[in-house]
Amino acid sequence: ARSVHLVSRPQGEPVPEHFSIVDEAVAEPAEAEVLVRNRYMSVDPYMRGRMNDTESYVPPFALNRPMEGAALGEVVASRADGVAEGTLVLHNRGWREYATIPAAEARPVDPDRVPSVTSYLGIAGMTGLTAWVGLFDIARTAPGETVFVSGAAGAVGSAAGQMAKLRGAGRVVGSAGSTAKTDYVRDGLGFDAAFDYHDGPVAELLAEAAPEGVDVYFDNVGGEHLEAALHNMRNHGRMALCGMISQYNAVGPAPGPRDMFQAIARRVMMQGFIIGDHMHRMSAFLDDVGPWLADGSIRADETFADGIDNAPEAFLGMMRGQNTGKMIVRL
Ligand code: NDP
Repeated sequence: ARSVHLVSRPQGEPVPEHFSIVDEAVAEPAEAEVLVRNRYMSVDPYMRGRMNDTESYVPPFALNRPMEGAALGEVVASRADGVAEGTLVLHNRGWREYATIPAAEARPVDPDRVPSVTSYLGIAGMTGLTAWVGLFDIARTAPGETVFVSGAAGAVGSAAGQMAKLRGAGRVVGSAGSTAKTDYVRDGLGFDAAFDYHDGPVAELLAEAAPEGVDVYFDNVGGEHLEAALHNMRNHGRMALCGMISQYNAVGPAPGPRDMFQAIARRVMMQGFIIGDHMHRMSAFLDDVGPWLADGSIRADETFADGIDNAPEAFLGMMRGQNTGKMIVRL
């Protein structure tokens, strides 16, 4: 069966040559293990960080080994008590067609509880939880407030903006990388305003879209967006620092906002968070957001790539903005 290997470490933007599709024998499951045929693999920005050989909150990918990532698959052979063949499981050995894993690392999921089974990789999984924790636990978004979300047409950003709105935000503004995406964010997702960050200085575009200022900034992008948000914050505003995708291909540390004194003058709270620390919030999140998923109040679009051969290109495409909503590889 085939898997995706990282064969060299990118400096700057990764290219297809950093990856290789390798065909290897699949191990038979040992006692307490299952063999899973992967059906869907999650494509995530944090994987770019794992391609660097630097210490971070997750270890680097090993070279010439299958990469990892969230995946959904079907148990095709089981030597674990209580896990039957045919069970659909969520696990972390993606980037390969078949995975032999301890049953304890494979969580059975119920396809009937979600709008589509791939929701477990997105809106009803880490993506949705990230949006919800960032907005409500970290930034303490309150009804009536103005919320600015960058990366608004992406998986986390589209969820964050819609959840803010459903919880009574006064005004929700999004930024994204094309007119097609800003139309989608406004007309498809119900944001009050959206701008294409290529259309001028982000601080000016944001000032036009949020003339009364911003109470909460949900940052997926960093860089110029973060600086622009700082200059548009209302007093006592809060920032949930979720991601900084504009800097993931940077070689060396990227500069921060130039006028950090604005954070003092405006009494701004900035907090970074890693969703892995907040897994205990999953059931409260599902209780809160489940009804919105069930009645269609939240839209969670997905962009699919097909086949393991296209997995590296799906990742590279996501980094360049080719996805709307969650990027998923379908096997
Ligand atoms: P997305 O679905 O948002 O996909 C990434 C998007 O980033 C692209 O579609 C592209 O959209 C945008 N992008 C790429 N380069 C730039 C750039 N230079 N400037 C602005 N936008 C850019 O991915 P996710 O929803 O999975 O992740 C969103 C963010 O959340 C990432 O930063 C990720 O690292 C972070 N994250 C953090 C977690 C945590 O625990 N803290 C957990 C999960 C995600 P466009 O066309 O609009 O440019």
